[in-house]
Amino acid sequence: MNLHEYQAKDLLTRYELPIPPYEVISSGEEISSSLSKLQIEEGVAKIQVHAGGRGKGGGVKVFKGRDSANSVIGELLGMKFSNNQTGGKELLVERVLVSPLVEIASEYYVAVTMDRKRQCPSLIVSPSGGMDIEEVLLTSPHKMLSEPVTYYGKIYDYRLRRCMKFLGWTGKLAEQGVRLMKQLVRAFMENDASLIEINPLVVTKSEELFILDAKISIDDNALYRHSVLSSYYDPSQENIRDVMAKQVGLSYIAMDGNIGCLVNGAGLAMSTLDILQFYGGNAANFLDVGGGASEDQVREAISLTLSDTNVRVLFINIFGGIMDCSVIASGLVSALGQGEISKIPIVLRMEGTNVEKGQELLKQAGLEFHSVNSMDEGAQLAVKLSQENGKV
Ligand code: GDP
Ligand code: MN
Repeated sequence: MNLHEYQAKDLLTRYELPIPPYEVISSGEEISSSLSKLQIEEGVAKIQVHAGGRGKGGGVKVFKGRDSANSVIGELLGMKFSNNQTGGKELLVERVLVSPLVEIASEYYVAVTMDRKRQCPSLIVSPSGGMDIEEVLLTSPHKMLSEPVTYYGKIYDYRLRRCMKFLGWTGKLAEQGVRLMKQLVRAFMENDASLIEINPLVVTKSEELFILDAKISIDDNALYRHSVLSSYYDPSQENIRDVMAKQVGLSYIAMDGNIGCLVNGAGLAMSTLDILQFYGGNAANFLDVGGGASEDQVREAISLTLSDTNVRVLFINIFGGIMDCSVIASGLVSALGQGEISKIPIVLRMEGTNVEKGQELLKQAGLEFHSVNSMDEGAQLAVKLSQENGKV
């Protein structure tokens, strides 16, 4: 789960980290009181959406004076933001963060995240922080240093000293830097984060460190033990179908292809995506209905998949072990009964427990579908139909 910048700052404030004061504004009426609270007339206004690259996309603006604040913040509130980080979605700006201007001498990048190769958390630092970091790290990987954190969340002092040397920080600056990085690692561990990214971390002319932007992701599987963080969930920033699936207890992940998939088991779902890709197709979603899905859940899953207007064909790939094929069939009949499947061909590969009963149910309901005997055959047909149907 991703946090908004203001939520990330709320969390980091508990670790006594240097963050300039900020207020969150959600309507024009709040501008004046927020600026008074901050005791500022000029500052920076930043849209609160689950996407980076706001600066380049016009979502970070400086204002000078009340009039300018009113017009700048007024424009940002209600704006729809999209860029290559919003997954084709337009994110509605419901909140704007305001903060005093900090005089930046230089911008740095610091992050704590999981290092899959090392199989442990790592601290990553770069002296090339700021809005071009993605490009910098792609073209000049030597401008980044990554130091491992132990499994139990300790970062050794010599590793921190290496980071300071790499960033060129000495004396008072290095003291602040070491403290800040230790606290970030602590925050990462204690909150079951999968990412804490500070970009930019800035140094002022008087050699003071400030966190100007923070991005935090929390491991969904650990949310049950962080009630405050769970309450930070903002469905307005998520894909609508992901949100609906979560409500009915399905694991659904939206993707940008046109073959709707309904599969049981995460492993089979992954290989379904692979095989569709192999035959030149693209899945519209990852959907694991699991082993114990009810008829209602199957119906919801089908409706959900078909509510994606990109979907040109539905590929049902069930290998029923624990999953009962007749439950899938009943769910399918029930979804079709609601008229959810109009003109969309269905490719059905169903094997295993109660398969005969399932097929019988489908026959009785008079449903039209392409029945296939193997996953391979089904994938090829689904890809073919998605291409034919896409041309219409
Ligand atoms: P992002 O583009 O979504 O990552 O948004 P950021 O919060 O990182 O803001 C983008 C850029 O705006 C930063 O890299 C800074 O250069 C600039 N910026 C943000 N806050 C301040 C501030 O308080 N003072 C100044 N001078 N610049 C700021
Ligand atoms: Mn940033």
